[in-house]
Amino acid sequence: MSQEQQGAELGDSPTSPDPDSRTTAATDATPVVGIDLGTTYSVIAHLDETGRPITIRSAEGDLTTPSVVLFDGDDVIVGREGLRALSGEPDQVAECAKRDLGLKRFHKSIGGQVFPPEVIQAYILKKMRDDAALQLGEFQQAVITVPAHFDEVRRKATQDAGYMAGLKVLDIINEPTAAALAAGIAGDYLAADGKSHIAQNILVYDLGGGTFDVTVMEINGVHFRTLATDGDVQLGGRDWDQKLVDFVSQEFAGLHGFDPRQDPNFHAALWRECEDAKRTLSARQKTHVMCQFKNHRLKSEITRQKFGELTANLLERTEFTTREVLSAAGLAWDRIDRILLVGGSTRMPMVSQMIQRISGKQPDLSLSPDEAVAHGAAFLATQLQAKASGRTPSFEIRNVNSHSLGLVGKHPQTGQAENVVLIRRNTSLPARVQRTFRTEQKGQRSVLMQIIEGESALPESCTQLGRIVVRDLPRDLPARSPVQVEFTYASNGRLSVHVKIGGTDRELTSEIVRENSLTQDELDHWRNKIAGKT
Ligand code: ADP
Ligand code: MG
Repeated sequence: MSQEQQGAELGDSPTSPDPDSRTTAATDATPVVGIDLGTTYSVIAHLDETGRPITIRSAEGDLTTPSVVLFDGDDVIVGREGLRALSGEPDQVAECAKRDLGLKRFHKSIGGQVFPPEVIQAYILKKMRDDAALQLGEFQQAVITVPAHFDEVRRKATQDAGYMAGLKVLDIINEPTAAALAAGIAGDYLAADGKSHIAQNILVYDLGGGTFDVTVMEINGVHFRTLATDGDVQLGGRDWDQKLVDFVSQEFAGLHGFDPRQDPNFHAALWRECEDAKRTLSARQKTHVMCQFKNHRLKSEITRQKFGELTANLLERTEFTTREVLSAAGLAWDRIDRILLVGGSTRMPMVSQMIQRISGKQPDLSLSPDEAVAHGAAFLATQLQAKASGRTPSFEIRNVNSHSLGLVGKHPQTGQAENVVLIRRNTSLPARVQRTFRTEQKGQRSVLMQIIEGESALPESCTQLGRIVVRDLPRDLPARSPVQVEFTYASNGRLSVHVKIGGTDRELTSEIVRENSLTQDELDHWRNKIAGKT
């Protein structure tokens, strides 16, 4: 079929049905939680009776739980022990699964088994849930956070992870929005009556272990509106660690003729040393990395300045994105009222120095960079619960989409496949956009819509979200019959599509069939297995 204005066309082909969405609403006063499911550390929080956010400690007594999963025979152990096992049994440990969400498989096999990344995430969520249940009693309802730049596929995978962990996912919320919410409520510039306070523009710079996000938001009374957002799924504290690992490895290789990175156990042990050294450098001007293999040793001195030089290009990447987002929001620094630093890696002094240099402003360090996101999620979870029991919401969140959404069309003249964008990036959500396309041939029996996400005009450079097929069209349907396509993009970044074929009674509303997502049967299989029922 072809698009009315641009003339894009679509072919036809079959497909299979999609599992349903599992988002449900809170209905009673049972505990609800917010979970920051981080790439490297996860945090769970709830609100106490007075409405204050409280981080729930893990069974080990920690505020944050390493997002690391050790598969030890039939035992699956999440957290600290997994982290420790990394240097002894790296083949049995899964880490940074969040970076692989959206892919069919986690990037390495674990103990000879292949896991979908969302299953690893589900094990982490299960641990968070079990530990919190020790204090709150049994519960199911949770809000889970995702990076603002997560695409539709990764959001769906996150919701699926919640389902497999036995949770009822009330909603997913963008991490920077959650942080701004926590800051707004803690800093008392969110007016409960929605009237008294002046609007504020907030920039949230979130540098965690594996992802980077920057978002500009406006808070006006009770309204939270995202103005622009961007980020990098492949940039975080681990890349800073990597620079140290590379530096020390080269030094060791120069001295002893063996590169530590060639031995998995040695490599993992060095990694832990370097991560530790990095943390020390946030507090001190210099430190040492000890590196020992068989009877070869190296004690390498690292200064904060040296560390800054080694990682300057990583910091520059975040600076570049920050400037881009600010300009996408249509603002200059003088219009930014607050800069929030979130994520453990913002403890590196180089981050606040850079922010200060480019903005001329002192960043707001009043929030705990580890807990703010989970606290914001707990506020939303409680609000959704209250809303379900008929109470008036105390704040309202408006997001934008972080990637353009469109269909693959075929240009009628050139026959070239092209990305026909329906909802441009940074459009305020929820959004509904309708376009009329045309069927391609006379008597065409089905219409295929390939939904893609991305900015490129070339479909192959975009992310394939999935497909929708309308079948059983009448045999006598003329060529160039109108096909009305409507995209509805919900506030949480989930998409549904409605299609109507003119001159027929064929009409279809569908969640799209996603390329890499698990089937309902697979989800239920894992849900039982993770619960220990199989
Ligand atoms: P994520 O949300 O990606 O899981 P976090 O926000 O928990 O990440 O941040 C984890 C990252 O923060 C890790 O890379 C860790 O090494 C880093 N980090 C934590 N504390 C410090 C510190 N004091 N100095 C430097 N980096 C730190
Ligand atoms: Mg985080």
